[in-house]
Amino acid sequence: MHRQISSFFGSLANFVFPPFCCHCHLRTTEGLVGGICRDCWASVKIWKDGQCQRCGQPVADAESLCRHCLIPEWGCSDVKTIGPFEAPLSDAVHMLKYTDAKSVSRRLGAMMAQCVVSDQRYNKADLVLAVPLHKARKRERGYNQAQLLAGQLGEALGIPSPEGLVTRARHTRSQTTLNKEQRLRNVEGIFAVHNPGRIKGRSIILVDDVLTTGATIGSCGQSLLSAGAREVLAMTAAAAPL
Ligand SMILES: [Zn+2]
Ligand SMILES: [Zn+2]
Repeated sequence: MHRQISSFFGSLANFVFPPFCCHCHLRTTEGLVGGICRDCWASVKIWKDGQCQRCGQPVADAESLCRHCLIPEWGCSDVKTIGPFEAPLSDAVHMLKYTDAKSVSRRLGAMMAQCVVSDQRYNKADLVLAVPLHKARKRERGYNQAQLLAGQLGEALGIPSPEGLVTRARHTRSQTTLNKEQRLRNVEGIFAVHNPGRIKGRSIILVDDVLTTGATIGSCGQSLLSAGAREVLAMTAAAAPL
C-alpha cells in the first residue's frame, strides 16, 4: 500500500515536474535510469577488444592492459571494463552509491555482461564475487555497490554470486594521496577468505565499481588465489585514468 501511494505521488510529481536528465539536462518523462536518459545511456563510450581496459590505448588482441597499465604480480589474470570513467558512465557509477542504486546496477550489470559474453573464460566462470567493503562502511551505506553489480552480472551470465565468501579484514587509508607502491602496500593482506572449500579450484569473476590503480581488486584476487582459486578475472564498470 505504502509503495502504491509513493509511486502514485512519484508519477504525479513526474507529470507536474518532468525530470531532467542529469547529463544532457533535457527534460524527459521516459527512459530515465539513474537520472540518465535513454540517449545518454546509448552514448556511453564502450571499450572494444584490442583496447587497453584502463587507458583505451590499442593493445594486441589477446591483451587487456597496455605495458604502461600492466601491474606486476597482479592477482587477476584478466580485466574487463565497460569503458572510461567519463560522464555519463561516471554519473551512473556515482548513482550506484547514492540514489536509484538498484535500477542503475541492473543497467550496468547488463552492460558488463555484454562486454564479456563472447569471452569463454568469463562466461564459463564458476562464481561472480564482489570486492567487499569494510563492514563499518557497509553499515554506513546499507549495501555494497560492488555486490549489486556482481549480483546483476551473475544473473545476466547465469553464474551464482554468493556474498560473504571474502571479507575486508581491516580499514585502509584512502588511496588517493598515495603513490603506486604505497597503494599496493596499503591494501596488502586486507582480505580474508571464508569457506575456502567453495573457492578451491574455481574460476572467479571479481567485480568492483571502478578500476583505478587496480591495487585493491588485485589484492583481493591474491587472497582468492592463496585460498586455492584456479583463476581470478577482474571486471569493473568503469576505469579511471591513473
Ligand atoms: Zn540525457
Ligand atoms: Zn593502458
